Amino acid sequence: MRTSTSPGPARVPEDRGAPGASFHDAVKCLFVVRCAGCERTLLTVDRIRDAEIAALETHLRRCGQAEPLEAAPPLAEVMRRIRVAPLESKA
Ligand SMILES: [Zn+2]
Repeated sequence: MRTSTSPGPARVPEDRGAPGASFHDAVKCLFVVRCAGCERTLLTVDRIRDAEIAALETHLRRCGQAEPLEAAPPLAEVMRRIRVAPLESKA
């Protein structure tokens, strides 16, 4: 049996609120999602959620790829058929 508690207060991890870090100022980063098969831009999103995945699946089925997408593909399978790149923002 392995003890995970350290005996002394040698190192206390500070998870909450590191000074300088601000959640509110987080830059909204957008991603361009392209189809790996036809290179068409499918979505521009800040985050890929279920709705986006459903839209991607719809395209991948229509795209006529060599390997047809299964009925309920795992996320990894969908991700394998798309390309996600950060949207280049104007400096
Ligand atoms: Zn496509």
